[in-house]
Amino acid sequence: MECVECGREIKEGGVKCSTCAAALHQECAKKVLGKWYCRRCYKQAKKSAKFELMARRDYLTKKLPKKIW
Ligand SMILES: [Zn+2]
Ligand SMILES: [Zn+2]
Repeated sequence: MECVECGREIKEGGVKCSTCAAALHQECAKKVLGKWYCRRCYKQAKKSAKFELMARRDYLTKKLPKKIW
């Protein structure tokens, strides 16, 4: 199996991209919220992670009893 980032063979300790299932070295992969991603999917993952955090923050703010207006 070849790493999609550096093109070298993965002998052991390889990970898989959570989005496209591409094989990667652990040191070539990026980690977002406990999941591994290739460089291509990393950008997308970072975006959705941000959305997820924003949604969570939204949810928390809505739970607060105070009103702005
Ligand atoms: Zn690699
Ligand atoms: Zn990927």
